[in-house]
Amino acid sequence: MMQPLFFEPVFKEMVWGGDRLHTEYGYRTPSDHTGECWGISAHPHGDCVVLGGPYAGQRLSELWESHRELFGHLDAPEFPLLVKIIDAREDLSVQVHPDDAYAQAQEGQPFGKTECWYVLDAAPGTTIIIGHRARSREELSDMVTGGRFSDLLREIPVKRGDFFQIDPGTLHAIRGGTMILETQQNSDLTYRVYDYDRLYQGKKRELHLAKSLDVLGAAFTDVADACPEGDTPGMQATFVSTEPATAAAGTFAPFADSDIGDDDASAKAHGSPALADSSITRLVRCPYYTVWQVAAPGELALHMDAPFLCVSIIDGDGTLCGFPKSARQGDKSEAPPLKTPPYEATHLETPPPKAPPPKTPSLKTPPYEATHLETPPPETPPPEMPPPGIPIPIKKGDHFILPWNGEGGAGIHIEGRMTWIASAVSGNLTERTS
Ligand code: ZN
Repeated sequence: MMQPLFFEPVFKEMVWGGDRLHTEYGYRTPSDHTGECWGISAHPHGDCVVLGGPYAGQRLSELWESHRELFGHLDAPEFPLLVKIIDAREDLSVQVHPDDAYAQAQEGQPFGKTECWYVLDAAPGTTIIIGHRARSREELSDMVTGGRFSDLLREIPVKRGDFFQIDPGTLHAIRGGTMILETQQNSDLTYRVYDYDRLYQGKKRELHLAKSLDVLGAAFTDVADACPEGDTPGMQATFVSTEPATAAAGTFAPFADSDIGDDDASAKAHGSPALADSSITRLVRCPYYTVWQVAAPGELALHMDAPFLCVSIIDGDGTLCGFPKSARQGDKSEAPPLKTPPYEATHLETPPPKAPPPKTPSLKTPPYEATHLETPPPETPPPEMPPPGIPIPIKKGDHFILPWNGEGGAGIHIEGRMTWIASAVSGNLTERTS
């Protein structure tokens, strides 16, 4: 098997963050108000460093530039994905993200932000904000500028194991009491619409109403017509309910319908049941990524046919190794470029911009979430990478990339009871039966 690339996470202290990244995931966080753990990221605001192995000490962005063969020679301007764990002790601001077209035209950045949330935990009674109740663009603008947020915001219950796809232009907020694993495009562009009039150190945080109104979709559409394959161009948000993933991973089974939304006529969020293949549940496939939940019941054989696979372990521990029959390490550099890089082909499938781009030039300082970036002391590095084929210990909280392993994909063998959230820009992850 190809050598996995393990990463040292980057932590973000946030006014709304808590201490659960330390207490429940074992990370050496910088403080007890740590809001985010960027587990796999090549973004300049948090570029993860490789732990161990032949690439130890290199940043993911450097590997992307100098060793594209690890990523299947994928043709994209930057490493395309970002995976983070969010600990929201308090409510995050109500916000919206731009799509690629707006990010390129107005911010000079390659990617907008399509994101999805796997709910790791939610306190009883917790809600989440997805979408709004304005029926037209005019009404949306009136309600936002008039501050009528209690009427505007669409709030729905949330529980452990829920999964949401949030397309650009979707108004949303994670509420306090929630932990989420977010898989997203490699972007940090956030426009803050409403911050509950909270004061931090005597001041309100900046809002970005003009840009928000540029990119916000109106009227909000939920789920829309999910096609069987899960490709849903034009939708704004998808809800997928899964059973809570637990250490008893073998008991995992998705259910097709959910128990939310009956109290909310607009929340017909049941159109896209997770597609399950016993231990593997495909949660979403969109033009930017496919995300799976993998529940290893003690022993599991997988086949990965993707340029690379991002893996975050959210529960359990065990070992990882490859099948001898998979392509050998030396084959990687000979891997031909993928025939269909997702960016050119799928760009057109994203919803059209909701409004003509404004004429204002891009800001030099995009309005990112207030961030205090401070690198904590390094994690204890994992032991030296064993040679291919030797089992590698893995545990809850680990983030790694399984690199490209040549055409035909790679076999992966997992021992232990674990739950993974895995993502790829394209391709498939399937259970290997023989
Ligand atoms: Zn967001």
